[in-house]
Amino acid sequence: GPILGIETSCDETAAAVYDGARGLLAHTLYSQVRLHAQYGGVVPELASRDHVRRINGLIRLALQQAGVEPAQLGGVAYTAGPGLIGALMVGAAVASGLASALDVPLIPVHHMEAHLLAPMLETPAPAFPFLALLVSGGHTQLVAVHGHGVYALLGESLDDAVGEAFDKTAKLLGLPYPGGPHLAKLAEHGRDGRFRFPRPMTDRPGFEFSFSGLKTAVLSALPVQPSDQDKADLAHAFQEAVTDTLVLKVGRALESTGLRRVIVAGGVGANQRLREKLAAYAERHGVQVYFPRLAFCTDNAAMVAYTGWVRRADGVAPGGSLFATPRWPLDQLRPPRAA
Ligand code: ATP
Ligand code: MG
Ligand code: FE
Repeated sequence: GPILGIETSCDETAAAVYDGARGLLAHTLYSQVRLHAQYGGVVPELASRDHVRRINGLIRLALQQAGVEPAQLGGVAYTAGPGLIGALMVGAAVASGLASALDVPLIPVHHMEAHLLAPMLETPAPAFPFLALLVSGGHTQLVAVHGHGVYALLGESLDDAVGEAFDKTAKLLGLPYPGGPHLAKLAEHGRDGRFRFPRPMTDRPGFEFSFSGLKTAVLSALPVQPSDQDKADLAHAFQEAVTDTLVLKVGRALESTGLRRVIVAGGVGANQRLREKLAAYAERHGVQVYFPRLAFCTDNAAMVAYTGWVRRADGVAPGGSLFATPRWPLDQLRPPRAA
């Protein structure tokens, strides 16, 4: 039967239903953005409580939209980590209770594996093997993906994740949280050539990133009383530096691994400038690039339901202790058991 997916790792509460034969049947989401905006960042305790308030309604709605009765479900998948532990525990508890009541397997899902598999929900879906650029609020990673659960980490950020760098720089420019999309919007009005920031760590070999210096560079260049044009020019220069850096390392990773396909996933994958530059790179080098739809770049449950379906045979009998973990390296995953 179809798999119900539940996502509560951070500040989005979401539910979705995926069926192996029929595809994605429904997905619902409530974003807590407005709740946390007044604090300039996610407040973990408020996030957990809000997940509790929203999750049951979102599950009911997803099942209704999918036309699936709870008794028809073949398993319940939930994001078990990485993420905020209190927030994860809400999804774990709800998923476990539901799986117990329905007597179906409980399927813990790795949040970054789910991001990584989000492009599989699109047509055409990428075939293995491919390179994955994971760019989210908490991660910046280049991963060689040889198959489900066969992930070799090539490199990652040594400091700020790229989404985090967007958010912190946006804050410097006085933009509301989460600043990434606001900064991108502002950059559209920025002029080329007024500011230029470094492309960090591109002058040495390897696949590591470092983005924390860029926000300092923006801060140093920021006038005491910046005009709207100053801010737009800074946003533009920041976005150019980040996207150039990401595309350069993607190119380097494709060349060194010989991979011919690249997927982009995570919230920063929604960035239009990044998408443009990667598409141009792919065109120039005769490789294929795949993106999830914008709504499946940021946190969502469709990717969790899909990953739950891929890992349905890894499901456990509910009723034991709840599995949720704030830290969980992606390369510790193993291929799913055969279904
Ligand atoms: P993780 O997945 O690493 O646990 P997360 O779940 O918080 O972190 P996502 O939901 O995947 O991260 O992505 C959110 C991040 O994406 C935020 O930092 C946000 O600013 C950034 N982001 C979203 N849209 C854009 C955009 N258009 N341009 C740049 N950044 C963006
Ligand atoms: Mg979020
Ligand atoms: Fe995420």
